Amino acid sequence: MMILSKTTPRSTEILTNFAEIFLCAASRNLLQTYGIKHNLSQCGLYCRSLSQEHEIRIALPPIIAKDVGMKTIDLITLRRDFHRAPELGFAENLTKARIAAILTELGLEVFEGVGVVGLLKQGSGNRAIGLRADMDALPIFETSTHDYVSQNPGAMHACGHDGHMTMLLGAAAILTKDPDFDGTVVFLFQPNEEHGLGAQAMLDEGILERFPIQEVYAIHNLPGAPLGQVSTRTGQICSSESLFEIIIEGQGGHASMPQMGRDAITIGAEIVQALQTIVSRKLAPGAGVVVSVTEFITNGQRNVLPGQATLKGDVRARMPQDREAVAKLMKQISEGIAAAHGVSISVAFNTEFIETINASGPTEAVVEAAGAQGLETIPNREPMSFSEDFAHFCQAVPGCLLLIGNGQEGPYGQPLHASNYDFNDALLPIGAAFWAQLVRDRLAKPAGEQGDNV
Ligand SMILES: [Zn+2]
Ligand SMILES: [Zn+2]
Repeated sequence: MMILSKTTPRSTEILTNFAEIFLCAASRNLLQTYGIKHNLSQCGLYCRSLSQEHEIRIALPPIIAKDVGMKTIDLITLRRDFHRAPELGFAENLTKARIAAILTELGLEVFEGVGVVGLLKQGSGNRAIGLRADMDALPIFETSTHDYVSQNPGAMHACGHDGHMTMLLGAAAILTKDPDFDGTVVFLFQPNEEHGLGAQAMLDEGILERFPIQEVYAIHNLPGAPLGQVSTRTGQICSSESLFEIIIEGQGGHASMPQMGRDAITIGAEIVQALQTIVSRKLAPGAGVVVSVTEFITNGQRNVLPGQATLKGDVRARMPQDREAVAKLMKQISEGIAAAHGVSISVAFNTEFIETINASGPTEAVVEAAGAQGLETIPNREPMSFSEDFAHFCQAVPGCLLLIGNGQEGPYGQPLHASNYDFNDALLPIGAAFWAQLVRDRLAKPAGEQGDNV
């Protein structure tokens, strides 16, 4: 552990020099004993004295494996280090520092904001493409038994973002070693994908104005699909996600005298049932819409009829017009039932993720690059029911999200967000090589300069 003044170098410079120290409950208590304010909830690694005069940073092992010659990255070691140190959305402090350190060592220009951006320029071409990886983990207690499990209990890389970051850093290493392209690669490391806020936050920072790109790409791993199988589609690839909250205000009362109150629980149950008819009876068959009530909270007790009930849930849609129809019907149905029972009601419907729409040119480029790498490719897969806030990048710039098979065995075939899921290390070199191929395809050198490494 080291105590550093506020004027110490940037986190990226500090981290690479740190020894391996893991925080445990004992050190947490010790910090409190000494009156040191800490932020241990996300990764347990940043602490600041109450006087704000000193800052303590406790680092996990340096991420860059053994040889810090920097042209070589041990991708498996790196991925597992990320896996050990998951950080939740907008708290990816160490993760960002590690990424920035690697990109810097690789010789890229690095910009740190809400995310990390690395610029790799080659030749005189003015074309630029963006490659995105997400950095955040999920609030899940990992149940895996491997030796690199999360050291931050309650947080876990259960969506494979540890692998996404590593593949992209691997691509940066390949492309710096052998920069056989002409133009600019903008490496976009994005925070807080899981809550759908990180991409927009980077856009709000003016990333695209500062680092203009003509195309943007992202990879998500897909458990259960054969290792390295690339699948994508032109048009809608991921669904929107909207969260809703319906609050019923009735009249609480005695369980033995229901006629004296207006029981919110039976009205809520009626609404839950009626909401099922939106998909089954109001939208076209095969619309791919999901309406799920996931929480039903009342203020009832064993002998108290509840006067208030709150229903919360999640809606997925493939088309904006279906999403808008669900919002309208949900309000209409809920208010209709409330009126029938003489209670008041409020309906809130907020879209957290918009639909992700792949553009045709970038999608064709992905299919071509995957083919060139000898990867099994599905160019027109079914859309996914999950959501991706890469949608915001795709809305701003023509882009393509592709899925890449994580394998089918053991933890590699477990669902995303499962506590025993794991990213498949065998995918790391495949993904990194795919990225490099895509860059060389899209930022190809002018004819006559092919293979002429500068
Ligand atoms: Zn996820
Ligand atoms: Zn994810």
